[in-house]
Amino acid sequence: MDTADTPENQASRPFHLLEAEDVCALLEVTPTDGLTSEAVTLRRHKYGTNEIIETVGHPWWRILLGQFTDFMIVVLIAAAAVSGILGELTDAIAIIVIIILNALVGFIQEFRAEQAVIALKQMARTIVRVRRDKITHVLAAAELVPGDIVLLEAGNMVPADIRLLEAIDLEVDESALTGESLPVHKIIASIKDKDTILAERHNMLFRGTLTTRGRATGVVTATGMQTELGKIAVMLDSETIQKTPIQKRLAVFGRKLALSIIAICTIIFVAGLLQGEDMIMMFLTAVSLAVAAIPEALPAVVTIAFALGASQLVRQHALIRRLPAVETLGSVTFICSDKTGTLTRNAMHAELFYIAGVEYTTLASRDAISSEIKIFIQALALNNDVEKNPTGKLIGDPTEIALLQAALDTGIDNTALSKSWPRMAEVSFDSSRKRMTTFHQGKEQLLAFTKGAPEQVLEHCTSDIHGQFSHAAILDIANHWAMRGYRVIAYAYRDWPALPEPIDANNVEQELTFLGLAGLMDPPRDEVPAAVRECYQAGIKPVMITGDHPATARAIAERIGLVHDHADVITGKQLERLTDEQLSGQVNHTQIYARVSPQQKIRLVQLLQQRGEYVAMTGDGVNDAPALKKADIGIAMGEKGTDVAREAADMVLMDDNFATIVRAIREGRRIYDNIRKFIKYAMTGNSGEIWTLFLAPILGLPLPLLPIHILWINLVTDGLPGLALGQEKAEENIMQRPPRHPQESIFAHGMWQHILWIGLLIGALSLFTQAWAIQNNIENWQTMVFTVLTFSQLIHVLAVRSEAQSLFTIGWLTNPALIGTVLLTILLQLGVIYISVFNSIFNTAPLSLEELLFCCTVPWLVLLAVEVEKWLVRHGMIYRDSN
Ligand code: ATP
Repeated sequence: MDTADTPENQASRPFHLLEAEDVCALLEVTPTDGLTSEAVTLRRHKYGTNEIIETVGHPWWRILLGQFTDFMIVVLIAAAAVSGILGELTDAIAIIVIIILNALVGFIQEFRAEQAVIALKQMARTIVRVRRDKITHVLAAAELVPGDIVLLEAGNMVPADIRLLEAIDLEVDESALTGESLPVHKIIASIKDKDTILAERHNMLFRGTLTTRGRATGVVTATGMQTELGKIAVMLDSETIQKTPIQKRLAVFGRKLALSIIAICTIIFVAGLLQGEDMIMMFLTAVSLAVAAIPEALPAVVTIAFALGASQLVRQHALIRRLPAVETLGSVTFICSDKTGTLTRNAMHAELFYIAGVEYTTLASRDAISSEIKIFIQALALNNDVEKNPTGKLIGDPTEIALLQAALDTGIDNTALSKSWPRMAEVSFDSSRKRMTTFHQGKEQLLAFTKGAPEQVLEHCTSDIHGQFSHAAILDIANHWAMRGYRVIAYAYRDWPALPEPIDANNVEQELTFLGLAGLMDPPRDEVPAAVRECYQAGIKPVMITGDHPATARAIAERIGLVHDHADVITGKQLERLTDEQLSGQVNHTQIYARVSPQQKIRLVQLLQQRGEYVAMTGDGVNDAPALKKADIGIAMGEKGTDVAREAADMVLMDDNFATIVRAIREGRRIYDNIRKFIKYAMTGNSGEIWTLFLAPILGLPLPLLPIHILWINLVTDGLPGLALGQEKAEENIMQRPPRHPQESIFAHGMWQHILWIGLLIGALSLFTQAWAIQNNIENWQTMVFTVLTFSQLIHVLAVRSEAQSLFTIGWLTNPALIGTVLLTILLQLGVIYISVFNSIFNTAPLSLEELLFCCTVPWLVLLAVEVEKWLVRHGMIYRDSN
């Protein structure tokens, strides 16, 4: 490679106009060997890593500035400035300092949330198969350099710009780059026309597109920002944080609430004037109250909770790709799951064989191997796409690994066998046909081996090696094995005089000679039965949708407790025959679907959704992508799935485990609960402040609080304790209650009543304190009201830690973060009362011991009230179904 050339020049070469060999020569690589480690190091130095520097997230200063652009904040700053100019300079400065502190809290939260989302994005990394130093490696896509030889198969994300060297039946979805929604067929021939546009460069693959069919080998021509996607990446102004349904609804609600609060504040302002209060002071008070009480930050706080929740979910092996999924997880009523790998371990092992009328439990160390067994072993060894990694580990589809392993266990030399029977052509596996065929050229023979689901292979068999052949008898054996939980694969072959034309399933998979059966066992995952039980308790129906045989599906379903004996199984063929109405009547209670094609999954999702169900669906193949998009929560596999499925999914299971879905649902419910608790806490506090200031003039009391007090309470009570509520553990019965209806109001189950009446109680306690202190000629009455209001909110935050459980049951110290912030806030409040500098800033005065005791006693009534409320809830007396 021309070392003086710049990466830009290099990448802009017209590789599509050149022949494949010339491209390799230009990039100084031999396709069969790949680059050497030294070459990779040099090129990495020159071209950098294969990463696109996206402009994700907002710059920090924009997030910070965003904190000050709220209309009421601007009014408050202006009002404070005016009051400062008119004389109350300290007051004005204090108010502005508090506004700044408040903004900082908001900024830190939002910044953390953005970072969490960006970190999530970066975890969704692609891995690729690369040939280097003559060996196939599995690497992170970021490590690719120009000249690397990349191996791709259906379902891969194209990791860089690539010139194709080999393309078998290759189709690519390029919509991400060109907008073209139909898959594009790719070939390797060079293109003659110099002016060919990107979308028509059929011998090139572009980063960010997806292979939907076939296999390919290619050489990397451009990486990172030099790729076509990299060139336009700057234009993709990706919205970093997606809005969740609740956030959207809260934004609408917030606007209405803001108007009501402004109306109340106007009344307070006018009432104050009528009572003879100073106008500027009254204006500042009214605006401060509006700023404190309008929950303008609520949608942001909710999103932050979801974003942080999503980063906690990663620790539970669930990677959230679309943020709204965190919220909607709690509404799932159906989990439609694949079987292999999700419910089972995907650690398959061949345990049974049927060859020429005899059943074997092993093929290994068979001394006198018959010709039937010999050719069967040959088929096991050759008909697969398994590869060996440098350490000798087999990489590929577990079904195929198990079958190849059975061949290797007999002691054959697979490398020699593959050399003497090289693969000439193939019709790759697809889950609708459920079979695959490979052609191998021997010295004198051209053999095609076909393997697949027994009924799919036998359908095309006309004889067996001895010419005697009974479909029914063999299917019967396969069925018996399936009933014992085995995945059964049938093998057949055909002797060809020459490669047929064209090589497609219809033409090739005909007139086969049956060879034998293999039975694979894939035991259920240990943690699945418990997860299934948890689903039932939580009102969620688990459903198995598999490409496997109905009997295998039922055997496994029974073993994990998904169904009881003799449960109904609907097969793909039956699905085809049922009308939508008929099927709709059955989807509600059918829990096993077998021999289903991915296309049929979409229909199942649709019908369930029409019945008002909220569906989570797993999938791993290319054809699963539409069903994953259609499901309310599409779930892809992190370990075995395709990139195509992952791109379409809302959530990725990093361990492919069904139990992880259930854990994520539990976590989703907890996060939602805690958001509700936060809203309940914050809005009840606001309601308490409004009641206090609204009722005071009506009761003939002077203005109970100064603007700075209101802002301070808002700052110390909303910020830290609110965040600590997010740490609250799951409620004890969280997985024993039915799923939340997705349209349910966040204020359901008595929340708005709580906000009003506990708020009123807090207001009453503050005004009682004020009246009592004035009555007893206590000069510090305002400091007392200020303290009672603050302490009431701190006690309230402890009381709302559970929706129904008593604080005495869940334990006072079980949320250390919350206890910590409550203690800190008490200390801050005492500082404001007893440190003289703050006395002048906050217009407070040190309280006597008696006065302080009074302020520490009265707020406990809030705890009493909330505990009574929870007792009534526990005994089903209030808020049973209220919305
Ligand atoms: P599950 O839901 O259990 O994960 P699946 O939907 O992944 O199953 P597929 O992989 O589509 O099932 O396989 C369907 C059927 O195709 C299997 O039962 C098996 O008979 C056959 N089959 C699977 N893998 C191969 C393969 N590599 N070659 C040939 N046939 C296969």
